[in-house]
Amino acid sequence: MDLSTPLQFVKGVGPARASALESKGLNTVEDLLLYPPFRYEDRTNLKLIAQLAPGEMATVIAEVRTARLSAFRRRDLGLFEATFTDASRAVLLVKWFHASYLADVLEPGQRVALYGKVEYDPFAGRLAMLHPEFEILSDEDEADAALHVGRVVPVYEAAGKVTTRVFRRLIHSVLERLAPPPDPLPASIRRRLHLPDLWTALRSLHFPAEQEDLQLLNAFRTAAQIRLIFEEFFWLQYGLAVKKNSARRQAGIAFQLTDRVREQIKRMLPFKPTAAQKRVLAEIARDMARPHPMNRLLQGDVGSGKTLVAAEAAIIAIENGYQVAMLAPTEILAAQHYFYFKRLFQKLGYQVGLLTGSSSKREKMQMKKLLAQGLVHFAVGTHALLEEDVEFQRLGLAIIDEQHRFGVLQRLRFMRKGVRPDVLVMTATPIPRTLALTLYGDLDVSVLDELPPGRKPVITRHVTEDQIERVWSFVKTQIQSGRQAYVVCPAIEESETQARRAAEKTHRHLAQQVFPDLCVGLLHGRMPAEEKEAVMESFKRGEIQLLVSTTVIEVGVDVPNATVMVIEQAERFGLAQLHQLRGRVGRGAEQSYCILVTGPLNDASRERIRTLVESADGFHIAEMDLKLRGPGEFFGTRQAGVPSLRVANILRDSELLELARREAAVFLHSGPEDEQRRALEFLRGHWQRRFGLAQVG
Ligand code: ADP
Ligand code: MG
Repeated sequence: MDLSTPLQFVKGVGPARASALESKGLNTVEDLLLYPPFRYEDRTNLKLIAQLAPGEMATVIAEVRTARLSAFRRRDLGLFEATFTDASRAVLLVKWFHASYLADVLEPGQRVALYGKVEYDPFAGRLAMLHPEFEILSDEDEADAALHVGRVVPVYEAAGKVTTRVFRRLIHSVLERLAPPPDPLPASIRRRLHLPDLWTALRSLHFPAEQEDLQLLNAFRTAAQIRLIFEEFFWLQYGLAVKKNSARRQAGIAFQLTDRVREQIKRMLPFKPTAAQKRVLAEIARDMARPHPMNRLLQGDVGSGKTLVAAEAAIIAIENGYQVAMLAPTEILAAQHYFYFKRLFQKLGYQVGLLTGSSSKREKMQMKKLLAQGLVHFAVGTHALLEEDVEFQRLGLAIIDEQHRFGVLQRLRFMRKGVRPDVLVMTATPIPRTLALTLYGDLDVSVLDELPPGRKPVITRHVTEDQIERVWSFVKTQIQSGRQAYVVCPAIEESETQARRAAEKTHRHLAQQVFPDLCVGLLHGRMPAEEKEAVMESFKRGEIQLLVSTTVIEVGVDVPNATVMVIEQAERFGLAQLHQLRGRVGRGAEQSYCILVTGPLNDASRERIRTLVESADGFHIAEMDLKLRGPGEFFGTRQAGVPSLRVANILRDSELLELARREAAVFLHSGPEDEQRRALEFLRGHWQRRFGLAQVG
């Protein structure tokens, strides 16, 4: 047996357990050993019931005597009560609230390990445990009871029928039989950071030594845990560094920054760039001038003026005789960019083209021909731009807007449309630094951290549905003073059709009953592209005063005269999404408002709404979002390329991530040669499988 042995060949794992383990992503012995306990329990204080004293944390092993869901008065509480007894013949009362499910779990005669705080129950007049952790011990467990009690015990998240006890047993027996595996972590790093070797670390991750501090264990800060967390981050960061390094060395286009380029940029600029825009453009221009491909991420909160920076970069490429392509996540956004760039570039005589999924066959053919002949200088499009038969004559710069909606693979595909073009990725979802490091560690990062002058922070209010009439009368006064407003209907994830119906219904209601004398428009994802464009254009011209929409307007839409954003059933939206929606207002000089209308809130949604009302800072909101939702769901799905971490947790372990990043950079540049060679070899074999990311250098 070694680390790569499939779990189905491990003793104690039959087909049923193998498939339960597989559903947790556990396929090999290595996977199993890197499946960390989520908690540790100190069961060294093993006592007889008669020895228990109030106030102490203790473990007892006892037999269930009675077990029942409590009488009628408490039924709604789901109060479950059981009594236990052991060799001391004393009786312990145990209560669990909201636990009616236990009626199917606990029954008299079972042997159970109970771990919890002992208290005196004044009603029963005897000692009791409230809500103890418990494990039912089977005969199978009796044999190795020493694994489950009388020590610091690891507690695992169950995988189907593979309970925490089964995990304990399996892992224990694997550790007994496995020969110590080689340690891939470079020895020089291990020595310097005083990290234990892999074998020691694995064993004490699961079965910590007696003297190990319980608090440290549960904070995941023992030497063994630190080593494994560090290692996971290290390989990820090292892989990204290798990738970045080899991309840096590839030959790319060295764009010339001539006076003419500067002239043209000046001619194009509709306003004075902010200091942040200037700084970021300088960073981009420096990259573009180098004879290697640029790989840069441009982060900026909504409304910080990323588009203008993209336009400047485009001018550099176009003036050097190259084409520029810009990939947008939605048709509406693609269309909007198209019009925006067309207007900006008119003076410069550039040809701007649009290619989306809903362009007609003839339009598509025509556009492809123009692109291939180099007659379109700047092409905006959706996924349609990525299709096989879209060819550019001379693609020099690829811009990807709102990156989080595109996978890493699409980024690669896009890059192949040119000969190592420069790549600029733009995102309006500010990414917390820790996540950016894991996700985009192979990109250089620029941040637009300043809003254009004269912006007033959007005033955000939370109101409940019963106050909606007041909201509408506020909207009315705003529109009467010449402003415009959005009403966003809830995202209905399961069904675009339902989302559309909801929007149509709201639109009817508002147009006919609430605002019969206003021009109320409707926008949703299912409308044909020309219709969408027509609606957006008419909203931009101010003809439509109130626009009812689904979340299709979430990204990028830019109408500075719109000052009110009403979001219905705001509790159904994610935090980042609400922030994006709010970013549609506050784009001009007028005071803007965002009104979050909700029904009754649960704890999580109340927290989201409060965060939004209190903060306008996209980075703070992103951090909160990451905390509230966890890294896995931050971007929706794994497809977005968020590497799945096993032992490490980017929220808890950000300082170890930073350490791993620094160590990886140092190692790449000055690690001992033989260690580097071995590390690279290891990386090639494991990186892709572990993180599901594209090939390393
Ligand atoms: P982002 O894409 O970062 O959300 P945009 O590029 O759409 O932001 O810009 C937001 C708004 O600010 C647009 O109306 C844009 O024309 C305007 N804008 C951009 N840069 C400046 C600037 N330097 N001064 C004034 N307005 C600007
Ligand atoms: Mg934008």
